[in-house]
Formats: sequence, C-alpha cells, structure tokens
Amino acid sequence: MNSKLPQAGTTIFTVMSTLAREHNAVNVSQGFPDYEPTAELLELANKYLLGGYNQYAPMPGAPALRETISQLVTHCYGATPDPDKNITITAGATQALYTAIATLVHPGDEVIVLEPAYDCYVPAILVHGGVPVYSRLREPDFSVDWQDVKQKITKRTRAIIVNTPHNPTGAVFSAADLQTLAELVSDYGIYVISDEVYEHMVFDDRPHASVHRHAVLRDHAIVVSSFGKTVHATGWKIGYICAPEKLTTEIRKIHQFLVFAVNHPLQLALAEYLRVPEHYTHIHAFYQRKRDLLRRELADSRLKLLPCAGSYFQLVDYSAIAQERDTDLAVRLTKENKLATIPLSVFYHDQHDPHLLRICFAKQDATIKKAAEILRGL
Ligand code: PMP
Ligand code: GLN
Repeated sequence: MNSKLPQAGTTIFTVMSTLAREHNAVNVSQGFPDYEPTAELLELANKYLLGGYNQYAPMPGAPALRETISQLVTHCYGATPDPDKNITITAGATQALYTAIATLVHPGDEVIVLEPAYDCYVPAILVHGGVPVYSRLREPDFSVDWQDVKQKITKRTRAIIVNTPHNPTGAVFSAADLQTLAELVSDYGIYVISDEVYEHMVFDDRPHASVHRHAVLRDHAIVVSSFGKTVHATGWKIGYICAPEKLTTEIRKIHQFLVFAVNHPLQLALAEYLRVPEHYTHIHAFYQRKRDLLRRELADSRLKLLPCAGSYFQLVDYSAIAQERDTDLAVRLTKENKLATIPLSVFYHDQHDPHLLRICFAKQDATIKKAAEILRGL
C-alpha cells in the first residue's frame, strides 16, 4: 500500500483516552467535558428529533443556524457575515479545517504551521500534496515569532494556519498579532486559516482576538469554529466555516462531496439555543473558575504552571520531578499513578520536548481536585 500518510499513527487523544480506560485512570488528557450540556439544550435536541426534522439538512447548513451564527459574530465581534454567502455548517471543526485546506492547497503549495500545532492540520496539508513549513512558537509564553514567519514566506506560500486561543498551550493572540498578520497577508497575498474553536474561552477580561474583528483579515481568511466546546457537547460534531463569498463558493464545492450536509435536528437545536447570547457569553467565566481551581490546587506542587490565557488546557513543566521524555512520562503516570495527561512533544514535527504536559480542565471540580492530588504527590 502506497500510504498517503506514512508517518501517521493513531492520534494522541485516542491513545491516551484508551490507556486511561484500560488503567482506570483519571482522564485529563483528551479535551472533552465530563459533564453534560444544559437540560435546556437537550430538550431542544429532543424537540427537533421528535418534530420531523430527521431528513437531510440543506447542503450549506440549516438557514436558522447560519442566521444564529451571523448574529453571534455580530454580537461578539461587530462584523456581520451573510448567512447565505459566507457561512457553511460542517461536521465539527475537523471537517471544516480539512475542507479549508482542501480548498486552498494545490500540490507543492507551502502552508505555514505554528508549532506546537493541533494535530489535524498537517495530515490534511500532506494529503493534498502541500508542504508544511514550520515556525516554532516562542517559549515560555508561546507567542508567535513574526520575524521567523516572515522569513519563511516564499512564492509558494499559500496560507498560514493560526489558532487562538491555542491548543495545546492556552496562549492567545493580541490585537497587535492580528495587525501583524494582516500586514503579512496584504504584503504577500497569502490566505489565513483561523482556528477559533475556543473563541468563548479567553480569560482575565481580555477580548478574543478574532479575525472577524479585522477588515483586511476577514477578506483573506477562512475562520473555523465549533460548537462542541461552547455548549459542552463535543460528541455532536457540529462546527462552521466563515469565509468571503468567492472562497465560500469553492469551499462548498468540496463540502458537498465530502459530507454533503450535517446532522439536521441538532443544527436546529443549536440555532434556537444560541439565539440567546447568555448561552455563550458566560462560558469564559465558567472556565476561568475551573482554571483558577486547578492552578490553586497545584500551587504547592513541584510542577511549574505556565500561563494560561485561554482554551481549556493548562500546561505544566515537570522538569523538577523527572527528566524522561514527556511521552514516556505520560504513559508511566497513567499506568502507575492513574492519571492520564497529554505530552506536548506530539504537537511538534521534530518531537521537540520542553518537558511539558497538557492538562484539560473541562472537568467537574471533583475530577480537577483528584487530578491535582495525584500531581501534588509526585
Ligand atoms: N481545533 C482545535 C484547536 C481543537 O482543539 C479541536 C478539538 N478539540 C478541533 C479543532 C476539532 O474540533 P471538532 O471536535 O469540532 O472537530
Ligand atoms: N481537541 C481535543 C483535544 O485537544 C480532542 C479532539 C479529538 O480527540 N480529536 O484534546
């Protein structure tokens, strides 16, 4: 078999969650809540499941959900995407990102990837014959080295993928980052793929530096988001793409043959639920409290806590405890200490290992406390 992805194994999320189950470990590895969506949202899902909406949704997505997204973007960022011309509903952000990359990348095109990078970007680039060009985020705050990015732009550069708030580091962009990105886009004519799935999880009263806020970027960007994180329903796998009209036309040509349309009743439930801004505007406070609980619980441990400005992930530096590779430590902790985390090196193409583990705090307080107790014992 001539593999299209000869280097790819099974994703770290599946590996660690499987190991956690096998060893009955507390699982703060894969990013998903161990609590349910609100009863109100579940009742809406029920209403549409029982209400005769069980056949195909329209190809670009249910009009009601695209209208709701347009309102959400207006409410949060002051731009108003057209539901018909700019918004396409996808089977989660993973399909949205794959479709965005498939739309832009021709064989030989280069795509700038900031590392550590969420793990679905590079395989999609490779499958389409693209060439990932890596720029390392600067430790310990994981800010973008824009000078390095600029030096890596060539005639073949087609796009740059950005992600704020950032998985796995919890770093966020500032308005200055957006401005620098906009200058690169104007100077070099490249596209931006902006992964904003944690858009409602930016802490400490900072605004989310969304591409939606920036007129120049909006015209050159494919913005991707997902409802899984916002409504505590990662298993629903519904997300969306927001892009200029010309790009949307090309995106939908691919979308219609990749997935055609997305789960209809759940789109309608989300459309009705998210008409109420309070259903997304409180999410940052909900997760900030969980972040602070985890940080307090770990304050007197031997782990060093890195800054966490957004997302639902906290990085910890374990160099005072162990010198082994992060992948070895993550496996050992799961088997011996009954705690599953995610090693950072898997998000680097060269397995760079700054001795960091990622902890997901989208967990019940009791789970966070149990995880912290194990970590304090190290
Ligand atoms: N991008 C990032 C940064 C993510 O963390 C995730 C998943 N948690 C995704 C994309 C994929 O989202 P979805 O589950 O909606 O496919
Ligand atoms: N995005 C989630 C994480 O970072 C996992 C999603 C998945 O398992 N594909 O943990």
